[in-house]
Amino acid sequence: MSEETIFTKIIAGEIPADIVYRDDAVVAFRDVSPQAPVHLLVVPIEPIAGLQHAGDGDADLLGRLLRAAARVAAQEGLARSGYRCVINAGPDGGQEVPHLHVHLLGGRPLGWPPG
Ligand code: AMP
Repeated sequence: MSEETIFTKIIAGEIPADIVYRDDAVVAFRDVSPQAPVHLLVVPIEPIAGLQHAGDGDADLLGRLLRAAARVAAQEGLARSGYRCVINAGPDGGQEVPHLHVHLLGGRPLGWPPG
């Protein structure tokens, strides 16, 4: 069981967020501190603390997250220009919120390698 996080509160409607997509498994909303013209977070409703905590039984949910990210990217007009999906996992990965999430970034050319 994951702890309550800022994302569980957003999903529950307890704190505001600009939600752009929701289905029975996934919610996507705008990052409060955007690092690109489009910066969304795609989050499972059922929390997993991070990718490093996901198991084989979560494979379907992980697929749902990526499918939702692609759908939202298209919704945001990024399908042709391209975009990046990032999952930060653990301290060295830069993960701050212990609730698995996919960052969807786009709207400008993105440098590589990341910092
Ligand atoms: P990470 O470092 O991968 O855990 O990413 C956490 C992300 O959550 C950061 O990009 C934050 O800007 C974002 N964030 C934190 N609080 C909120 C919030 N209330 N609404 C939307 N995004 C948030």
